[in-house]
Amino acid sequence: MASEANPFESLQEQIDDAATYLDVRSDLVERLKRPERVLEANLSVEMDDGTIEHFKSFRSQFNGDRGPYKGGIRYHPGVTRDEVKALSGWMVYKCALVDIPYGGGKGGIAVDPSKYSAGELERLTRSFATELRPLIGPNVDIPAPDVNTGQREMDWIKDTYETLENTNAPGTVTGKSLSAGGSAGRVRATGRSTMLTAREAFEYRGQDIADATVAIQGYGNAGSVAAELLEDQGASIVAVSDSSGAIYDPTGLDTRAVKSDKRKTGSVIEYEGAETEVRSNRELLTLDVDVLIPAALENAIDGSIASDVRANVIVEAANGPLTPEADAVLTNRDVAVFPDVLANAGGVTVSYFEWVQNRQQFYWAESRVKEELETIITNAFDDLVETYESRDLPNFRTAAYAVAIERVIKAYDRQGTWP
Ligand code: NAD
Repeated sequence: MASEANPFESLQEQIDDAATYLDVRSDLVERLKRPERVLEANLSVEMDDGTIEHFKSFRSQFNGDRGPYKGGIRYHPGVTRDEVKALSGWMVYKCALVDIPYGGGKGGIAVDPSKYSAGELERLTRSFATELRPLIGPNVDIPAPDVNTGQREMDWIKDTYETLENTNAPGTVTGKSLSAGGSAGRVRATGRSTMLTAREAFEYRGQDIADATVAIQGYGNAGSVAAELLEDQGASIVAVSDSSGAIYDPTGLDTRAVKSDKRKTGSVIEYEGAETEVRSNRELLTLDVDVLIPAALENAIDGSIASDVRANVIVEAANGPLTPEADAVLTNRDVAVFPDVLANAGGVTVSYFEWVQNRQQFYWAESRVKEELETIITNAFDDLVETYESRDLPNFRTAAYAVAIERVIKAYDRQGTWP
C-alpha cells in the first residue's frame, strides 16, 4: 500500500476530528477511541507434511453499547493488532451510521492463505474458532468474512462453535453458505452499497451516475460487484486493478468479462479487451475520471497521491483507504469523499438480515434483501447529508462520524456506567 500510516491512529484522529464539531462530553468520546478488549492467540497448526506452523491471530471487541460485537475476519500477511483494532472501531461507527443493532468487532490471522492447502486452512480456521469460542455467539460477537475469507471459512467457524457448544446456532457467524443458513444477496451486498452510495451521491450533486466514468482499485468481492452494478446503472468503468496491476480502456470495460478472465488467469491484467492498456495502480488512482473507488486495502491513497487525484468524487468500498493526510488534502481540494462506513456498509447490513433470518428460521427472497438494503443505505445517506449541511461540516466523513458517535454515546449514556 502507498503509506505506512498506522490505521488505529488514523481511526483515533478521525474520532477526534469529528468530536470537535459535536456537543458531547469529552470523557465519553475518549471511551470510543479504544477497544474494550483484544484477544491475541498464537495458533499451532499441523501442516500436510506433519510439521507444525505457528500463526498470530487477533479478535478485537471495540464497543458493545448498541448490541453484540460484529465484524469480519481477515486472512492476510499484513494483519497486526493495531490493524484489527482500527477495523473493529470502524465497524462500531458503520453499524451506528446505518442504524443496525450492533457494536463493532474484527478479527484476523497473519497468514497468506494462497500458500496453504484447503486442509491446512481448515485446521487453521478451526483452531482460531476454538480460541474464539468463549468470546463469540449469536448474542455476543458475530464474525463474518473479510479479505481472503468467505463462506467456506464461516461454515467451518459455525461448525466448530456448534460442535463445541453442542448446539445449533447458525447466527454465530454471518456470510455463511446458503446451505449453512446464509442469506440470499450477501455475497453481492458490499458492492451493492457502494453502487447505491455512488448513485445517491451523484443525484445529490445534481448529476446522473449513468454519465459517469469510474476507476476501481481492487477487483475482489467488493470492487468487482460494485463495477458490475455501476455498469448496470449505465456508468462506464474505464479502469480496474488488482495487486498485479491496472487495466484501462477509455471506451469502458466489460466488467463481467474481466471478472471471468480474472477467475481463469488470476489477474485482471490478463484481460484481452480490444482497447485495454496495462497501467500501474498509482496511474489508476490519478486517472481523469468522475468517480474513483478504492476497493483494496487501507492506506491506498496517501497525501502525495491525493494531490494528484483527478476524480471529483471518491466512494470508499475498502475500509480506511485514505490516510488522514489524504483526507485533509482532498477536503482542501473540494473532492467529495463518501466514506467507507456508508459505502461498504451493505456487507454488514445483509449480515444483519442473515442473523435476523437465522433467529427466526424464516428465509427471505433475494428481492426482499435488495429492497431492505436499499432502504437502509439511502436512509443513512440522507442522515449523513442532513448532518453535513445543517452543521456546516467540512466533509462527509466528519458527518458520518457525527451521526454515529452521537448514536453510540446516546446508547451508552442511557444505560449508565456500571460497575
Ligand atoms: P478481496 O480479497 O475479495 O479483494 C481484494 C482485492 O484487492 C483483490 O483483487 C486484490 O488483488 C486487490 N489488491 C490487494 N492489494 C492491492 C494493491 N496494492 N493494489 C491494487 N489492488 C490490490 O477482498 P474484499 O472482500 O473485496 O475486500 C476489499 C476491501 O473491502 C477491504 O478493505 C475490506 O475490508 C472491504 N470490505 C469488504 C466487505 C465484504 O463483504 N467483502 C465488506 C466491507 C468492507
